[in-house]
Amino acid sequence: MTKVVSRFAREVEPKLSQLKGCSVEQIARVDYGDENWPILCIRSACWEAARPTMLISGGLHGDEPAGVHAALAFVVSAQREFDADLQFVVFPCLNPSGFDAGTLQTQSGANLNRLFGIGSAQPEVRAVEDWLRTQARRYRMTFDLHEVRPDYVGEGFTEQNNPRGAYLYETVSDGSDRIGRLMIDALPAGRPVCDWPTIYNDINEAGVVSYPQGRRNEIYAQGTSLDAFLDRHYTGHAFTFETPTEWSLNDRVDTQLTFLKVALGHAAREAAVGGRSFRP
Ligand SMILES: [Zn+2]
Repeated sequence: MTKVVSRFAREVEPKLSQLKGCSVEQIARVDYGDENWPILCIRSACWEAARPTMLISGGLHGDEPAGVHAALAFVVSAQREFDADLQFVVFPCLNPSGFDAGTLQTQSGANLNRLFGIGSAQPEVRAVEDWLRTQARRYRMTFDLHEVRPDYVGEGFTEQNNPRGAYLYETVSDGSDRIGRLMIDALPAGRPVCDWPTIYNDINEAGVVSYPQGRRNEIYAQGTSLDAFLDRHYTGHAFTFETPTEWSLNDRVDTQLTFLKVALGHAAREAAVGGRSFRP
């Protein structure tokens, strides 16, 4: 009998052996029925307490695979470009059971991006919250990599409300410069950007939703998403990226990597001239 190899085992685990200049740690295992999955954390091997640290997370929603592939592609091939000035914490796949099932939720039916900061016992959320608390570190920037499905229906929205172009949320809370516009403008000509005046009720300016000013969505205002949690406790500059799942995987991963590289280039230049990275 042939054993079915899960998508996580096929698409995530083999990449880990290709990593150089990183360490991989399992911060938790989650069990559903007789299956279990690791929650993985990849870190720069070269680590200094005072260096600016960037946090990248993917796959919080299991049916948004480009974030997982972009996070892995980043550590496999793009990270070294920034290693001289920055260090990285990468959670490549925070909802591995949903990734395997191709569902937004975990196999227990939880939408992880509505459970942060409320004392949830959900194991994936606990793993991340406990890890962050133990590390007790501020991150120069954080990036949560998501996607938008054309057929998503929920929380009062219908299929017509789902953007068909890329966009991002930028949350600035401590006077950091806004760079979302530069990230959108760096996309190749012809790559569609959502230009609607609002996205899920939030104010959208040609692909950039600027928080907290642009926030009109009452569910996001509850602050239970990972980016809101990170903004409250661990960073002054939090991003969430969105690409439409109907595009080719290549274009989606390329879009997410383009956003990342612009933001990291900005932070690396600032670190190289001894800018705000030396803040506590
Ligand atoms: Zn999502």
